[in-house]
Amino acid sequence: MERTRRKHRGIIDGYRGAPYLVKDQAGNTKCVSCQLCEFVCPPKAIRIVPPGPAGQLADRPNAEKMPAEFEINMLRCIFCGFCEESCPVDSIVETHILEYHGEKRGDLYFTKDMLLAVGDRYEGEIAAAKAADAKYR
Ligand code: SF4
Ligand code: SF4
Repeated sequence: MERTRRKHRGIIDGYRGAPYLVKDQAGNTKCVSCQLCEFVCPPKAIRIVPPGPAGQLADRPNAEKMPAEFEINMLRCIFCGFCEESCPVDSIVETHILEYHGEKRGDLYFTKDMLLAVGDRYEGEIAAAKAADAKYR
């Protein structure tokens, strides 16, 4: 028997989806590890490990540091957007992405590299969605 697939209804303007980490135009990590987003996140989905006094310096000029580790537990994230609103350097931004999967629980702990890679892969789509959402922001 053929299974009926549910039809995707599309995404409304202003939809907030999975957050990602932004790179600057030179491809460097924008996050300066201030931990504001971690502090405001209601379900405590964000975990940041700062570099510490002897840790790695930022890979871009005019920034002191970047996180040693940055992780979002996508099992907890409620797409509230507080992280994006609180970030002083616009380095964490919500996308229109609402579908992702993992084959085991650990796959849904998005690491810094995974969060940065979202921008590499969906940059054009994210920019178009942001332009469409501008009137709601
Ligand atoms: S969207 Fe909300 S729940 Fe998800 S990581 Fe950001 S602050 Fe946390
Ligand atoms: S994403 Fe923004 S708010 Fe969060 S630690 Fe980095 S700079 Fe701070």
